[in-house]
Amino acid sequence: MNKQNPKTTTVNCPTCSKTVEWTGANEYRPFCSKRCKLIDFGEWATEKHSIAGDPVFLEDEELDGPIQ
Ligand SMILES: [Zn+2]
Repeated sequence: MNKQNPKTTTVNCPTCSKTVEWTGANEYRPFCSKRCKLIDFGEWATEKHSIAGDPVFLEDEELDGPIQ
């Protein structure tokens, strides 16, 4: 017997258009992954970051601080 929940809602990841199940377990919804979420939030907008496989937290790159 198939016990799949027919009411599972799916959405398309706004970043890569992949189908994503909208479940409470998916903390990145409606994105498919943390990476896509970050991309959409513009945090990966700087083209300095080449998109590799690993999720990378933003590092404090030379902000315009007066630290010298
Ligand atoms: Zn995605």
